[in-house]
Amino acid sequence: SQDTLVAESPLDAQPSPAARGKSILPEVERRRTFAIISHPDAGKTTLTEKLLLFAGAIQIAGSVKARKASRHATSDWMEIEKQRGISVASSVMQMEYGDCVINLLDTPGHQDFSEDTYRVLTAVDAALMVIDAGNGVEPQTLRLLEVCRARNTPIITFINKLDSEVKDPLDLVDEIEKVLKLTVVPFTWPVGMGKRFAGVYDIRNDQIRLFRSGKDRLETESETLQGFDHPELADRFGAEFAQAEQEIELITGASAEFDKEAFLNGQQTPVFFGSAINNFGVKEVLDALAELAPAPKARAAIQRVVHPEEQAFSGVVFKVQANMDPAHRDRIAFVRVCSGKFTRGMQLKIGRTGKSIRTASAMSFLSQRRELLEEAYAGDIIGIPNHGLLQLGDTLTEGEKLQYTGLPFFAPEIFQGVEVADPMRAKQLRTGLMQLGEEGAIQVFRPHDGGALLLGAVGTLQFEVVAHRLKHEYGVEARLVPTKYRLARWVTAEDPAELKQFIDFNAYRIAYDVVEAPTFLASYQGELVISERWKTIKYHALREHA
Ligand code: GDP
Repeated sequence: SQDTLVAESPLDAQPSPAARGKSILPEVERRRTFAIISHPDAGKTTLTEKLLLFAGAIQIAGSVKARKASRHATSDWMEIEKQRGISVASSVMQMEYGDCVINLLDTPGHQDFSEDTYRVLTAVDAALMVIDAGNGVEPQTLRLLEVCRARNTPIITFINKLDSEVKDPLDLVDEIEKVLKLTVVPFTWPVGMGKRFAGVYDIRNDQIRLFRSGKDRLETESETLQGFDHPELADRFGAEFAQAEQEIELITGASAEFDKEAFLNGQQTPVFFGSAINNFGVKEVLDALAELAPAPKARAAIQRVVHPEEQAFSGVVFKVQANMDPAHRDRIAFVRVCSGKFTRGMQLKIGRTGKSIRTASAMSFLSQRRELLEEAYAGDIIGIPNHGLLQLGDTLTEGEKLQYTGLPFFAPEIFQGVEVADPMRAKQLRTGLMQLGEEGAIQVFRPHDGGALLLGAVGTLQFEVVAHRLKHEYGVEARLVPTKYRLARWVTAEDPAELKQFIDFNAYRIAYDVVEAPTFLASYQGELVISERWKTIKYHALREHA
């Protein structure tokens, strides 16, 4: 036909951007990108390690801890993490499991670093929630869950530490339903606990997996029995089996059927029991991630909705980490690929500035090693070293003007002034603070009237980390001094002239954050009332993207 003839002319034979290459849909559909969330000490690190072990990403268990340890050795500021036994920085790991490519994002457990966690949670399609069966739902579990709920993130639950004396499983289920307001659908059920932990019963497959303790064993070595009635088990674990049988009857009678839609909307959570340290119950969780967790979905940018299988690359910076390697003064921007295929060396455009960035040294995060990255697809996380070109919330494309939304900055709740002990090092202080501010480790405000910089945080530990990092990474001894401020609100106005007037009128209370967004500072709630003379002025407790 006419059409074919035209299409075959040399000019038209140039591949259009949309037609370039083959469909990337199969690659996108096998991606599973999730975060692992928990209250500190629930077993997140241990479970991460076992997931990696199980997926064959590492040979021996213990490597994640070893990785933590070696980071301590090379990076001083991690000292804080070591001293406090909390993980400050979140990291990324990638592994293959069956047909799936799994991207696992770690999150800091301590609430003082919750901002970092919130941003990591914007980069995932699902979350794995770890609960300590001895403690049940803890404060940080609830807080994190609320963030997931705000984004309708699907959640898979792992109830850990069944090898010790823990709460009654029925009570745990009840607690999750009441406190977290999630409908629980148990996929497995424990038989006994602590010294009398016999194993878990896989409700859907009618199988019992017998518990044997042992840290570095693969779960495939464990014994699985079909059905529930086994005289030899009843001999050893009679009471536990009788009780589990009753509980399972109760729970399967009372609980909802698994509804994939309700799970994908974050209303229902499949629940698994086990013991991470014994690598027990971990395979079931991995299988659930592969089978149930969603592949990357379409995402909203200001301009339009972007589909992951689109050919053109786009991504968003959700985390920036400076000085990961003290020998190289660079920063790594963690980018969630939102659409298309990334190939190393690609030239990408930054939406905020219109500037281009080369990606010859982009890296992937294969288990604990950082490696040069050749290609990546929607759902993957890539690291792009840079010297400050990339900031939190930045959108990268092959040229299209796009800005993804949804990366949150929260108005700080605690403020400190910052002074330098040695005035000769004022410049280093400014540089250090600006970089740490851009990284999101703390919020840095420059007062409109000049004077000392102000630091704003959500948790006090952030100040300690910043002071520590200023000293070790920038050689600046910083003094934190009290301020009268307790609250901050970003200010916008429909009318730019009015905004300027407002700023002039309130000059002594206005400061600018790292992206130069004007902020109103207050000492108490009452000061946040906007007088009637301002017609279009608005305050915001949340800022999204630059
Ligand atoms: P995180 O703070 O959530 O990363 O927790 P960790 O993985 O560091 O674990 C906290 C503590 O719980 C450590 O002492 C672990 O050895 C312990 N732990 C982890 N998993 C289990 C488990 O299955 N059973 C028992 N009894 N202890 C566990």
